[in-house]
Amino acid sequence: MAAELTGDQRLAELSANLAAVRDRVTRACTAAGREPDSVTLIAVTKHFPAPDLRRLASLGIADVGENRDQEARVKAAELTDLTGLAWHFIGQLQRNKARSVVRYADFVHTVDRPELVDALDAAAGRVRDRPLPVLLQVDLSEAEASGVEVSGPAAGSLPGRGGAAPRWILALAEAVVRSTHLRLAGLMAVAPLGVDPEPAFARLAEVAARLRAEHPAATMVSAGMSGDLELAVRFGATHLRVGTALLGGRPSLVR
Ligand SMILES: *Cc1c(COP(=O)(O)O)cnc(C)c1O
Repeated sequence: MAAELTGDQRLAELSANLAAVRDRVTRACTAAGREPDSVTLIAVTKHFPAPDLRRLASLGIADVGENRDQEARVKAAELTDLTGLAWHFIGQLQRNKARSVVRYADFVHTVDRPELVDALDAAAGRVRDRPLPVLLQVDLSEAEASGVEVSGPAAGSLPGRGGAAPRWILALAEAVVRSTHLRLAGLMAVAPLGVDPEPAFARLAEVAARLRAEHPAATMVSAGMSGDLELAVRFGATHLRVGTALLGGRPSLVR
């Protein structure tokens, strides 16, 4: 990100990046025997300014992902005229941020403990007239795969990445179903860093199948980023969260 681009140059760059990503998604779908429109592309716009979101929207992007409330709520306030844009909150979420996030988020992907279900439910009840769709974040780390004992849903989280251990997902799903103002939409996961993502995505597909067996409407599977979207498509992702491949390296100086 050395040179500053004009708005038009930036639009052309985003347009080319988007075409390349869409091409990757189409090829991955073909290889997996899936329809391209069974996969939704979420542009992860963290660290990029509101004008980039406008540019992406003008190119047909209808879904954006943000991981920090402080940043997201400012951008959402700047872009209230883009009524067709769906906001996905994909970052680790503290309970005290729930009241802010439920005001602009159309989906929250990172529900990983019962206390967060309660906080989001209470917050959503105050400001929303429709239930807030939430996804349960699954911890796909090796420690969880090996079944190391933990004492409860919160204890499975690794610092920084978050997520509930696979064996707590159904209990967490029950908590969402019992809530008043949340709707169980599906699962989200981040592949563990530095290891082969394939077994992790395979595990995610298993957990997703188990969840759907109990909750048929919980069909969203949010997985796959710039580096591993093909693999995520192969293992059933319905929502890809793509940042770098669309917007370039973070952070950007482009205004
Ligand atoms: C930043 C981020 C992404 C996007 O990652 P890229 O590798 O830049 O595509 C996806 N998911 C989450 C949770 C993120 O924080």
